[in-house]
Amino acid sequence: MNEINGLLLEMENEENAVLRAQNQAAASSARNAALLIAGGIAFAFVGVPVGALFIRREFVQHRQTEEEKLRTNHFLDSVIENIPSMIFIKDAETLKFVRVNRACEDVVGYSRSELIGKNAHDIFPEEEANFLAAKDKEVLESGELLDIPEEPIHTKKKGLRILHARKIPLFDVNGRAQFLVGISEDITELKQAREALVRAKEEAERSNKFKDQFLSTMSHELRTPLNAVIGFSDLLTEEQYGPLNDRQKRYVNHIRTGGKHLLRLINDILDLSKIQAGRLQLAIESVPVNVWFTDVVDTLRPLADKKSQTLVEHASSNLSARADSTRLKQILMNLLGNAIKFTPEGGRIELAAQQIGDIVRIEVRDSGPGIPPEEQQRIFDAFYRLCQSEKGAEGTGLGLAITRRLVELHGGQLGIESQLGSGSCFYFTLPVVATPEVQKTQGSRPNLEVGEGRKILVVEDDPAAAHILQSHLLSAGYDVVLCNQPQHAVEMAAELHPSVVTLDIVMKPLNGWELLPNLKSDPRTATIPVIVVTIVDQPGMGALLGADEYIVKPVEKAALLTAMQRCLDHRGQIERIQNILVVEDDTPAREFIAEFLSKQGYNVCTAADGAEALTRMAALPPELVILDLILPQVSGFELLAEWRSASQTRDIPVFVLTSKDLTREETDYLLKNTDALLRKQEPWQETLLRQLQRVASPVLTREQ
Ligand code: ADP
Repeated sequence: MNEINGLLLEMENEENAVLRAQNQAAASSARNAALLIAGGIAFAFVGVPVGALFIRREFVQHRQTEEEKLRTNHFLDSVIENIPSMIFIKDAETLKFVRVNRACEDVVGYSRSELIGKNAHDIFPEEEANFLAAKDKEVLESGELLDIPEEPIHTKKKGLRILHARKIPLFDVNGRAQFLVGISEDITELKQAREALVRAKEEAERSNKFKDQFLSTMSHELRTPLNAVIGFSDLLTEEQYGPLNDRQKRYVNHIRTGGKHLLRLINDILDLSKIQAGRLQLAIESVPVNVWFTDVVDTLRPLADKKSQTLVEHASSNLSARADSTRLKQILMNLLGNAIKFTPEGGRIELAAQQIGDIVRIEVRDSGPGIPPEEQQRIFDAFYRLCQSEKGAEGTGLGLAITRRLVELHGGQLGIESQLGSGSCFYFTLPVVATPEVQKTQGSRPNLEVGEGRKILVVEDDPAAAHILQSHLLSAGYDVVLCNQPQHAVEMAAELHPSVVTLDIVMKPLNGWELLPNLKSDPRTATIPVIVVTIVDQPGMGALLGADEYIVKPVEKAALLTAMQRCLDHRGQIERIQNILVVEDDTPAREFIAEFLSKQGYNVCTAADGAEALTRMAALPPELVILDLILPQVSGFELLAEWRSASQTRDIPVFVLTSKDLTREETDYLLKNTDALLRKQEPWQETLLRQLQRVASPVLTREQ
């Protein structure tokens, strides 16, 4: 019995030691211990030695559990202590701190002994303490986690700090909030950095806006005098007003070259800034690649010829891409222009296009000096030019930067393959347009003997389409002559002199895009209105090449007859344009335009501002107006609106000639309400003459 009593005493001592070591031993543990002791006593009375062994084993297990708990608690304590975020626990009733970790001490600047047992009002200024207490209450009342993005506190050592806090209540077994746990981050530096970033962004946006405004104002201010510089030096070069000696010729040439360089630089900078500001909008249509190849090659061939370079192009005639035709031309001009510029005399340049799946890949390959691999990406940076480039090759270093962005705006990619000494190949991709197969039909030369009615020449190589057009026109009383061999169309039109020509686009061996300029430039046929009737939905391109009306197939009879009538009405109304009013506030520009037109045989009167233009219009309405948009007092837009709303002036053709950077809305408005839109930053003289010929032939259409 003594033995058992000794054992029990020993067990009791050990138990007490464990209990002492763990202040917060759970009540259940105590109960277990009590049970063990009670069991032990009972056992002593029963006096079974085996029972003693059982108790001993139970006791050892119990001690191990308690040690395990101690270890876990220690582990959790050290996790909380070492977490870099501030962690604190407050009593839910008093809102006094019951526990804080090291990060909390560091930020607040008080030791834990200074914090424990205190609430916010004991530590922080009144206003901050009220805020903290209000948030604590909100958490305890809602019973949910609360995220407080910014909690300002005045700390002991670090001054004002901003915390991002998250607080959540801890509940007792009855579901009552017992504690409030907070985890906070000191976000003072982060907030300062964020604010600095926002300020920098606003600043950048402000300067960008200022840059845009500056550029668009300056573009007008710079382009206007530059146009005069270039225009008058052109006039002097022609020696119309007396011969120039060699030195004078050289000097005038320098003025002209310098002016052109400056104009190109200004245009490039403006283009780039417009693209970067996201203000460049594309007018996407289906663009026949070969037509644009021919156009660009024709424009640049004289430069290649000057350097005795071979310039070849291959593109299948029915390959079309989805692109903005003006911008596609700009891309091609840049790449082909570079190839010619940087390839030495006698080199070879190839322009090719092929369809690969649903994209068109266009390549400009040259036999020039090539570009070293380490430079191949840098050349696309704005203003970057290679030092070893062709000596004296002019340029701004902006061409490729603009070209790359333009291609990307189309959803394509611009790339380069090149080796030093073996030439370069710049390639880009565009989405393809599926073009239907062209049905080739053999036809005989038509009978030109037709009656006295209004003769219409239908140029169409597809018999079914020709039949439809013929029957619509015949039923409306027109005499129809069919031309199913487009290569004879100009001759037939010259011979027949029809009232109107209808023209298909997709034809062989000559397509409508090739035929239209021929019809419009041949003096025998230039005045005949042309209605394009096609499956190709590109009225912009049609207008550019001189089409008077544009109808997309399938043809509706009513639309065809209305277009026909419009052409005939215009034709009946207008004879040759003689009197032109030039409205332009810049004196040299006004003088230059007047001079340029007078040289072509037009009678020109001028107005230097909007008010003078209104007076002239009221006194003696001209047959056509050339209108600048930026004018003092009454703007070009206001003049246009006034003239279009009055019955006497509504039908007077207006050509806008401007250097203004137009928005999409302004462009749309002008395309609807004027008869030609010419930009001073582009070579406008030739286009103006072409458009005047079109008006002289008198078929303008405003409502295409
Ligand atoms: P720019 O032609 O006005 O100098 P670009 O941006 O078009 O500007 O071209 C940047 C540079 O890339 C050129 O200055 C030239 O050094 C190089 N480069 C462009 N195209 C070619 C080419 N086809 N062959 C050799 N070098 C070229």
